[in-house]
Amino acid sequence: MKPAQTELRPKKAQKLKTIVLTLSVLASVVFFSVGMLSAYTLTCGVHSAGVGGYLINPNFQDSIAGTEQQQIDAVNLGADEWAINGNAKFFWTYGGTTEIAMPSNDNNNVVFATQASGGNILAEAFCYMQNGTRFFDIRYYDGNHSWNHDSSVGSGFDIAGIGCHEFGHSLGLGHSGESGATMWPSSLGDGVANRSIENDDINGIQFLYGENIPPHLDSISPNSGTITGGTLVTVHGSGFFQDITRPCVGDNEAILVRWVSQNEIWIRTPPGDSIGLNDITLKDRFAGNFTFANVFEYEESPVLLTSLSGPAGPGRNVEIQLQGPPGATYGIASSRGQGLFIWRGFQFSLGNNIAVHMKSISGGADPPLDGLGLSTKCFRIPEDATLFEEFVFQGVVKVGGELIQTNKLVVQVLQQ
Ligand SMILES: [Zn+2]
Repeated sequence: MKPAQTELRPKKAQKLKTIVLTLSVLASVVFFSVGMLSAYTLTCGVHSAGVGGYLINPNFQDSIAGTEQQQIDAVNLGADEWAINGNAKFFWTYGGTTEIAMPSNDNNNVVFATQASGGNILAEAFCYMQNGTRFFDIRYYDGNHSWNHDSSVGSGFDIAGIGCHEFGHSLGLGHSGESGATMWPSSLGDGVANRSIENDDINGIQFLYGENIPPHLDSISPNSGTITGGTLVTVHGSGFFQDITRPCVGDNEAILVRWVSQNEIWIRTPPGDSIGLNDITLKDRFAGNFTFANVFEYEESPVLLTSLSGPAGPGRNVEIQLQGPPGATYGIASSRGQGLFIWRGFQFSLGNNIAVHMKSISGGADPPLDGLGLSTKCFRIPEDATLFEEFVFQGVVKVGGELIQTNKLVVQVLQQ
């Protein structure tokens, strides 16, 4: 970018002159919208994934450039303008300081000042493409121009504003024919006005990276499920962008089972923290988090006993799973014949192969149900079990001081 007061050339010459701002080897990939009266132009490609990282060498020598931290803040201010007000799917990541003070086609994107004279050039951006990845450097000429980190500290060019222009090149924009735009080839006065991007600049970054449309929720189905999670939920709405929509239910991240379209995603609910209505949040790294309040209800987990094993046989293990409220104490009894049965902290009266009475005698010797409200136990079918013999299992779960009986689970011996 050049100082405004030196800018006297006709428009087309300005544009050609701007090629100096990119490496000559890249001149062939610089495109200009010749013939358009006022519009952004493009340079050499985009940052794939919509993210650009950079390092800063805060090596301005002018006293009004401020401390290293003030210089860093000023550079970041110029960069952030694009991410904050561009409303595009793009953001910068500032990666810290560096001592690099030369443009080079390496894997670093570096912002630095040089004590050399730039003539009419205030600052310039270098662009490199390596294996489809975009790299850049930004050089401020500190030798024959003075720089301030804030216009209140004295006359000089504005590090942030001119930086905003150069970061525009660094994200893929060329010069604009729009005279008030940040990407106008000459500085807007001392550059402070370059700090805020204009509609034409915004059109440019949105052309390169896409407009950032906030997600919108229309409906979800079903809108309730157990606290243990695992409910498959279809979410309808708009603005669900592939790969960048991370759903949460409450505070917990759900599994994005399938991105169907920008209007439909499928999620599997995570284990919940609280019974009742919970928020669904779509985490969008570009536009922030969008929360749809109180749209999914976690229900208490049913008290349920199931077998996870195939056909039972003598001497084989049967895996029994008990489901209930997370953290609850419990017991499971198995029956064969009749009589009083004491097992794992619970006393069972068994009659006709059915548990007819259970009461806690010690509060439960097993650890409580886990955070998902689950516990799995193995039971060994006796060696002398006969074909078609039935074993009955039943559990009790202590909920709020009450003992709740589970279903009776019948396991029949179906192989020898
Ligand atoms: Zn420029």
